[in-house]
Amino acid sequence: MPERRRLHVRGTVQGVGFRPFVYREAVSRELTGWVRNDGTGVVVEVEGPAGALQALLDAVEHRPPPLALVESVEWRAVPPVGDRGFVIAPTDREGGTDVAVSADVAPCDACLAELADPTDRRYRYPFVNCTDCGPRYTIVTAVPYDRAATTMAGFGMCAACQTEYDDPTGRRFHAQPNACPACGPRLRWQRGAARLTAQAALDAAVSCIAGGGVVAVKGVGGYHLACDAAAEHAVAALRARKQRDDKPFAVMVGDVDAARQLCELDDVAVAALASPRRPVVLAPRRPDADVAPQVAPRLAELGVMLPSSPLHVLLLQALDRPLVMTSGNRRDEPVAHDDEDARQRLGPLVDGLLSHDRPIAVRADDSVARASGGRVQVLRRARGYVPQPLRLPVPAREPVLAVGAQLKSTVTLARGAAAVSSHHLGDLDHWSAHEAFRSAVEHLQRLSGVAPAVVAHDLHPGYRSTAWALDTGLPLVGVQHHHAHVASCLVEHGRTGPVVGVAFDGLGLGCDGTLWGGEVLVADLCRADRVAHLAPVPLPGGDAATREPWRMAVSWLRLALGDEAAVEWGATVDPRAEAVLALARSGRQPTTTSAGRLFDAVAALLGVRAAVTYEGQAAIELEALARYASGGPDHRFDVRGEVLDPSPVLAGLLADHRRGVPVPELARAFHGALARVTADVAAEVASARGLDAVVLTGGVFQNALLTDLVAGDLEQRGLQVLLHGQVPPNDGGISLGQAAVAAAQQH
Ligand code: ZN
Ligand code: ZN
Ligand code: FE
Repeated sequence: MPERRRLHVRGTVQGVGFRPFVYREAVSRELTGWVRNDGTGVVVEVEGPAGALQALLDAVEHRPPPLALVESVEWRAVPPVGDRGFVIAPTDREGGTDVAVSADVAPCDACLAELADPTDRRYRYPFVNCTDCGPRYTIVTAVPYDRAATTMAGFGMCAACQTEYDDPTGRRFHAQPNACPACGPRLRWQRGAARLTAQAALDAAVSCIAGGGVVAVKGVGGYHLACDAAAEHAVAALRARKQRDDKPFAVMVGDVDAARQLCELDDVAVAALASPRRPVVLAPRRPDADVAPQVAPRLAELGVMLPSSPLHVLLLQALDRPLVMTSGNRRDEPVAHDDEDARQRLGPLVDGLLSHDRPIAVRADDSVARASGGRVQVLRRARGYVPQPLRLPVPAREPVLAVGAQLKSTVTLARGAAAVSSHHLGDLDHWSAHEAFRSAVEHLQRLSGVAPAVVAHDLHPGYRSTAWALDTGLPLVGVQHHHAHVASCLVEHGRTGPVVGVAFDGLGLGCDGTLWGGEVLVADLCRADRVAHLAPVPLPGGDAATREPWRMAVSWLRLALGDEAAVEWGATVDPRAEAVLALARSGRQPTTTSAGRLFDAVAALLGVRAAVTYEGQAAIELEALARYASGGPDHRFDVRGEVLDPSPVLAGLLADHRRGVPVPELARAFHGALARVTADVAAEVASARGLDAVVLTGGVFQNALLTDLVAGDLEQRGLQVLLHGQVPPNDGGISLGQAAVAAAQQH
């Protein structure tokens, strides 16, 4: 007796080959019925013997296609109708649209084989793709995900492509970006008045780069600026034209072997590097790495990535050497993704533009992950990751839009348990990033069809995201910055708390109106209590104190050794020391407990860096020095009640430095002292409150050495340590944390 089931599959199930997969599974079991997309996912009706139906259900739940992310499968019995065979039915456009579109995926092996096969009609075609790979998020303009709702809408398929597209047994069945040299996008090269297309365009770009030129290359989510990574003059020219002083450039290589010539890669790092998401992976640089010193000045690590599109594959094959592949923008501007915009903004910076006529609907920067000690941590979540949803431990009763912080901005839209974070948007104090913020909010709402009922925001009234939230007129939930950091880490681990939350970062507004950043909280998703923190010191000159770490050194030394010693040291670094001391004494400056600013102060004190050209530079360079140093003097924080005072550490380090103790040892000693006091306090709080887990979060925990030291210590004491993996510990994770808190507070 045949039975019939109706299945409803939700999650990332469109644009990932889900319907052909169901088709093959059904036909191979001689089941009848149909499968189709609708605005909420994939719907299947299937009929046959009960055992075969169960086998199909198992396959859907446990062996979906590689790119699918099944969130739920609901099924119910329906009356048999006796259809003739199994078909893929047209998309149902009625109903809601809470389907998640897949992230962009690097070329699969089958497509790479075609790319390399002289007899294939897509031989060397830079836009080859199939249902297992290709662009998704960055070409989608609406849902349901169909060709008409992508930037491929303007390309009519040739007969051969249409046949593939219509064949439910093939790899290109309903592959929306399906294309070939006859009907699809074409490369373009532009240099001065010269214009070339197709293979000639690629050849021209290759010879330009080989000759030491800088070329703008249109990638998956935006333009890159590319040059030969070993050519010092080319890298120097790129730095000068991009107006970027020291911030490291990422390097693209052709394959894992080539990456191994540049970096020390363990298995975990290789897996991240070669994953279809293709992030930039930061890993320890080999001493003999053949790249110009200007690629990543004074750093122990190098960011490497593998080709993220067939075009990059062809470029790397032709050039056969590491290429700098840095975002196509000038300092602080967003990455160019629109062709006309790229021509205007990047044209003057480059010797030529390698572009094409498939538009990018939404910009997505390269994602960045750090591989260290067998662990991978995402620092920037964008291309390849977005818009994959994350699950909230407590589902939202009403849809929440969380607008994040100010720097490394992201926004998150949550409905039920599914939270979708936007790509990295940049720093909102730049007008263009603010525009990107607004379009990201619109894009997320359009893709999900969700209208938020509640807006979650940071407590800082000066953030543009907060101002935007106030303007919506919707009910608001203010979430304290460091509570949001802790919550974002709880989401990753599917926990609700309470836990001990150590949140070390730059600056975030605290509940008392001062600037926090060195906090120990006891927190669950609903609330957070501050139980310990670094000693507060004035931030002399506000933003200037962030750009000029020596100011923080003066402020901290004043606490540690008094006014006279502080100004005496300061005068050796900058003639404005006395004025800065007066500012610090005035009582008119905001105070901060920031751990990030403490790192800055130590870097300045040890002569590592008095002023920075990019955020976090002083701390990154201090970590690089400490990384391979051993031992160093033992200095301890002074703990008074809930205040952690680094005065004895600073006084000790300054004296050691004057005695000539090598800087790497002192940098290491500082890491050791901070790690020790952090673990001591966290363990004490955990024991006093009966808690078993400690979250380490905030931008300072991008520091792998500090993370290793604190986590190792806590684990030895039998505590569970919750670290970030998929969600950035920096402010890129704030919007997710805000969404989790707002959702939990609805219960
Ligand atoms: Zn493919
Ligand atoms: Zn074609
Ligand atoms: Fe923060």
